[in-house]
Amino acid sequence: MPPVKPYLGWFFSKILVATTETQGRRRSDFCHAKEGELLYFPKECEGEDMDAPCGCKRSLIGIETNKTTTTFKVVENGSMTVDWCAEMILPAIKELSLEAQESIERIALKQAEALLHIAGRYRAGTILERRGERFLRRTERRPGTKAR
Ligand SMILES: [Zn+2]
Repeated sequence: MPPVKPYLGWFFSKILVATTETQGRRRSDFCHAKEGELLYFPKECEGEDMDAPCGCKRSLIGIETNKTTTTFKVVENGSMTVDWCAEMILPAIKELSLEAQESIERIALKQAEALLHIAGRYRAGTILERRGERFLRRTERRPGTKAR
């Protein structure tokens, strides 16, 4: 999870959801999550390779299915705060029972900050992949606009 500064009190309009779009572009791709569900960061193994079978360094998890995907879509979702997003992912994190030194609530807040920050950097419709702490654009839909 990339480190970000605290965004408590800020309002965001975009979030990351699961998508099958651009699946297969990498041989290590998979999408077991449900199209359109909100995502959060999985717990990562120690010393895991980026494209190892586990996939914890290149995937995010759906909050409803608790299943992973390597492709994410940036979508508009109205006006959201970090607190709102943290509340959404909290039950899923509890279910996974991440053993950590921090409280589950604190982890949810940190994840929410990172997720909203990442989504906020891209236009709605952008498909992203994750390579460890880096998020990279796969495609971007720009209806009626010229490619940069
Ligand atoms: Zn792993």
